Amino acid sequence: MYRDPFFFNPSGQDDPFQLSRFSSLNSLRNVKDRKPDKQGRLVGPAIDLEDMLLLPHAMTALTLIDDPETLAPLQEAYQNDQTIFACYSVADSDLNAPPLSYLEVGLELAVGSLINLDEGRQSVLLQARRRVNVEEIWQDGRQLMMRCSLIKPRHRKSAALTALCRAVVDEFKHYASLVEFLNDDVVKYISEVEDPGDLADMILSTLDLTEEDRAAFLLQTNAPVRLEACLRSLMKENRLLELEAEIQSRVQSELDSNQRENYLREQISTLQKELNDGKAVDSDYQELSDALSSIQLPPEAREEADKELGRLAATPPFSPENGMIQTYLHWLVDLPWDKETEDNLDINHARTILEMNHFGLKKAKDRILEYLAVRSLKPTRNRQPILCFIGPPGTGKTSLGKSIADALERSFVRVSLGGVHDEAEIRGHRRTYIGALPGRILQTMRKAKTINPVFMLDEIDKLSSDFQGDPAAALLEVLDPEQNYAFSDHYLEVSYDLSKVLFITTANTAASIPAALLDRMELIEFSGYILEEKTAIANQFLIQKQLQENGLEDEPIVFTPEALKAIVEGYTYEAGVRNLEREIGSVLRKIARLKSEGQTFPREITVDHIVEFLGPAEFFPAEAEQNDEIGLATAIAWTENGGEIMPIEVLVIDGKGNLQMTGQIGEIMQESAQAALSYLKSKQELFQIPDDFFEEMDIHIHVPEGSIPKDGPSAGITLATALTSAVLGVPVRHDVAMTGEVTLRGRVLPVGGIREKVLAAKRSGINTVLLPRKNEKDLRDVPPQVLNNVHIILVEHMDEVLAAALVDKPINRKPRAAASRAKKKKGASDQPDAPET
Ligand code: ADP
Repeated sequence: MYRDPFFFNPSGQDDPFQLSRFSSLNSLRNVKDRKPDKQGRLVGPAIDLEDMLLLPHAMTALTLIDDPETLAPLQEAYQNDQTIFACYSVADSDLNAPPLSYLEVGLELAVGSLINLDEGRQSVLLQARRRVNVEEIWQDGRQLMMRCSLIKPRHRKSAALTALCRAVVDEFKHYASLVEFLNDDVVKYISEVEDPGDLADMILSTLDLTEEDRAAFLLQTNAPVRLEACLRSLMKENRLLELEAEIQSRVQSELDSNQRENYLREQISTLQKELNDGKAVDSDYQELSDALSSIQLPPEAREEADKELGRLAATPPFSPENGMIQTYLHWLVDLPWDKETEDNLDINHARTILEMNHFGLKKAKDRILEYLAVRSLKPTRNRQPILCFIGPPGTGKTSLGKSIADALERSFVRVSLGGVHDEAEIRGHRRTYIGALPGRILQTMRKAKTINPVFMLDEIDKLSSDFQGDPAAALLEVLDPEQNYAFSDHYLEVSYDLSKVLFITTANTAASIPAALLDRMELIEFSGYILEEKTAIANQFLIQKQLQENGLEDEPIVFTPEALKAIVEGYTYEAGVRNLEREIGSVLRKIARLKSEGQTFPREITVDHIVEFLGPAEFFPAEAEQNDEIGLATAIAWTENGGEIMPIEVLVIDGKGNLQMTGQIGEIMQESAQAALSYLKSKQELFQIPDDFFEEMDIHIHVPEGSIPKDGPSAGITLATALTSAVLGVPVRHDVAMTGEVTLRGRVLPVGGIREKVLAAKRSGINTVLLPRKNEKDLRDVPPQVLNNVHIILVEHMDEVLAAALVDKPINRKPRAAASRAKKKKGASDQPDAPET
């Protein structure tokens, strides 16, 4: 017996499976169901369908080979238009025993016409109609007979059952969308079936169930229970089908993209071959491989290079990976590993070069010559000093670095660290990072092309750190001779030797250099230049340089001293000479133009020419106050541009003992003001300041030019002086400027930037400068022509400061503000000894 796919079409009105194509279908329609007797029983011939488990409404073609026992009842039923019964024998485990038992549920079957197939095979169409309860089965001669009863529906209509039907129909629709063999007509037909038992049976007939499941469904005569079980089977089937579809589509898309990639790759390589006679793909590899074998790499780098070369050979030429490996190998090739220039240690040669390019800068030049001397005496000494040039912009730090490289005959490179806040900028990004490159140190080493350049790290004071890691820590590794022979860059991954590099760092101020770095460096100060020095630098270097740059080297052009002075004072405002050089350049460009236009041009540049070429002056020297005033004292501040005088104003007004400070005063300066005030309070009795004075007055300290932030402790004595003057009503001498930190007990502590400050005071027309005694040594740096023109008073205590700065003695004076306040309170007539002001 063979089993063909199930079909069903019980009513014959709709024919989604197009069963009418079967010629015997119409005859099936004529077959009437058997009528039960009075007890509701049915009796008739039966056939044993064994494992061909049908459910009601299913149709199947039964193919038989020479099986007269089965064929006879079928033929008879067909001829009489009668149904027969199907029963299912249950095979015993003992193969020799005859099948004795049957499933307790059987089917009523309609039989179609017999078709003769080839080789003695016959086929007959069967349609399952109703479930029956098998009561007895017996053998009548050669004929199997069955007595059975109809199964009555036991369920009632309910909302829950309707909902269950709907859920089953929904799930079935989904199922139909996942399989191919159920068309829209079938779905529509089944969706409209109302009887839950029929619905379950029809749907179950379309599912691919196991024999056991099918038997269980046949035996399940309770329609709602069957329907629920049907829903479970449907859902399970749907999940499986979805999963299958997902797996299929994944596999398909993988296949698609692989095919696509292979196809494109194939195309590209064909094109490349066309273009380059087939050499292109391999030539990069060969080039890199040759380049790598021609250089001397340390073992670690060699290992990495070999590894990466191997990977390069194994990666498809046009994959991004390939590009990344090539970039990396190019870096290995391009970095200097063993190429070293030989130092010229001839001190005279070095001295000549340094003098030839630079005016002054004695300390820095001496230090370099010492270094050369030591190197020439002890050539094996490997450790390089780390010099840090500190000073305002334009004071020759960079250009001296370049001259040092020239003197030593080393290559010179520089990198600016201003604004670097990420460790990766120093040390690079790991190669896994897209677009990764080595950090600035190795990028600069590549430019140097030798392993022993003079390497200038500019603006080391402008490093900042944030959550991205601390660049200063990475720099420490760069500079530290204990570590820098094996500097690790994240990109390169193999250590790189920086120990032969001569590092020079530059900064405008030492204050903001991270302490750990400062520790390792030797500071060399570059101070600002005074007018005379600037004029000398211009005459000896800048004018010549600018003449050359503007194509005027053949012209004997000179600037008069007055003209240079006019530029320095009226058009530049700086401690260095960068702007001076720029302005000289501007003047010479104007002359170059006149010359090229064939016009006459001056050979000697005077003040008038300056005004003509540069326009009206832009700066006017800061001028000292013209009159002695109460509560106004002059401090000298150090700025990145050099020194500057800074007036400090104090006002005492009625109030509640508040101290107010304005003019962008930084924290340290505010503390300094508090200390100055405490100092004054400690002198309350001596200065005869009334008891409640500080509780009933407000003090306002203001430092003009509020847009410029000011900070530092060095205005301490000036703050104390202005405060004392304001409280006691004694004016401060207008021609005195001062600098120094003050303690609570009035002691004066030393401060930095003395040279710049004295120069600034001189520039501003101040003739008396008060300096902390401990700063006396710093006066050596002040040019004598300045010292000769300024009266320097060295002080140790506020008493000396007040004595020199106030026009009158502070002692035995009644505080002016307090007096006037007292006057207000009591009335003028009650105040017999009001001081005259
Ligand atoms: P910095 O690095 O300190 O900012 P630079 O080295 O860039 O300054 O100097 C700016 C310009 O001034 C350069 O052209 C430099 O040659 C020149 N210059 C600065 N100081 C001197 C000096 N002492 N002698 C000769 N030229 C100088």
